[in-house]
Amino acid sequence: MTITFFGTSAGKPTKQRNLSAIALRYEQKNEWYLIDCGEATQHQIMKSDYRLGKLTKIFITHLHGDHCYGLPGLLSSRIMENISTPLEIYGPKGIKEYLENIKKLTKIKLLDYTEIIEICDKSDSTSCHEDNGTKFNFDTFDVEVISLDHGITTFAYCFFEHISNGSIDVKGLESIGIMSGKIYGDLKKGKTVLLNDGTKIEPKEFLLEPIRGRRVIIAGDNCKPDILGDRLNNLDLLVHEATFTQEVFENLEEKVKHTTAKQLAIAAQNGGVKNLIATHISPRYIKNPAKLQNDINLLDKEIEKYFKGNYFIANDFDAFLLDRKSFELKKL
Ligand SMILES: [Zn+2]
Ligand SMILES: [Zn+2]
Repeated sequence: MTITFFGTSAGKPTKQRNLSAIALRYEQKNEWYLIDCGEATQHQIMKSDYRLGKLTKIFITHLHGDHCYGLPGLLSSRIMENISTPLEIYGPKGIKEYLENIKKLTKIKLLDYTEIIEICDKSDSTSCHEDNGTKFNFDTFDVEVISLDHGITTFAYCFFEHISNGSIDVKGLESIGIMSGKIYGDLKKGKTVLLNDGTKIEPKEFLLEPIRGRRVIIAGDNCKPDILGDRLNNLDLLVHEATFTQEVFENLEEKVKHTTAKQLAIAAQNGGVKNLIATHISPRYIKNPAKLQNDINLLDKEIEKYFKGNYFIANDFDAFLLDRKSFELKKL
């Protein structure tokens, strides 16, 4: 599975960082998914090897502009390119009204071949009156939706891949002289095979162990990473905001509902997260700033101090591979 960052800035873009947008692609699927769609996400997509025609699902974490102002432009380009692949957009209540109003005012088709699925915020009874569920089941993975703490309805999307059946131990079978063919198919179906010389081959001897699914959480803006609770236990990958360092946050005149690098690192460490990617970086953090407190390396150092697992601070166009068998995360 590959996770590619199209935007890693918080609130407004900088010369180095565009606004929130993350692509997720499973190697076994010929399609990809987008989590958030900040302004100019389609420009970033054009600079990558991802194509709009293969995009089948968009998950919007919340309706702040830095996470969804890129949607109308992206949808409009789909129409202009005559893309008729069905697209599903998941997001909080209000996303339908937002897109339908743009469609009405701009008089373009915008939502052809597109279905919008609004999700209830179960922690806020006023946000949605229908119980349309917080779990979606797809063919290779399920998505669980968790409500976060950010002042407006905001979600984390938990991508839980299904377990994959054990494959045939080809090397083992070849070593006893059995090449591919019907026997492989029978063993895979769990049938005992009787060879011409009378030898019995039991399927359990030549089926490799099933592989458990990868567990990844991509969270929207949030001031309490602990809210993810037990889902952090042995989590293969957490992608979460770290907008400020602790020192900068403490000196903000107006407090905002965001997480510091220190808070994220502690929550990930206590929860037992294996791999962590911090994103949604305040525009103040750059390399070699005039003010020392705005040095991007300070975020890195803060996470390193409190989190002992494997971690990265995402930059635009960084791509990461979460291995299907080893569950290790590496930067591509
Ligand atoms: Zn944001
Ligand atoms: Zn926000």
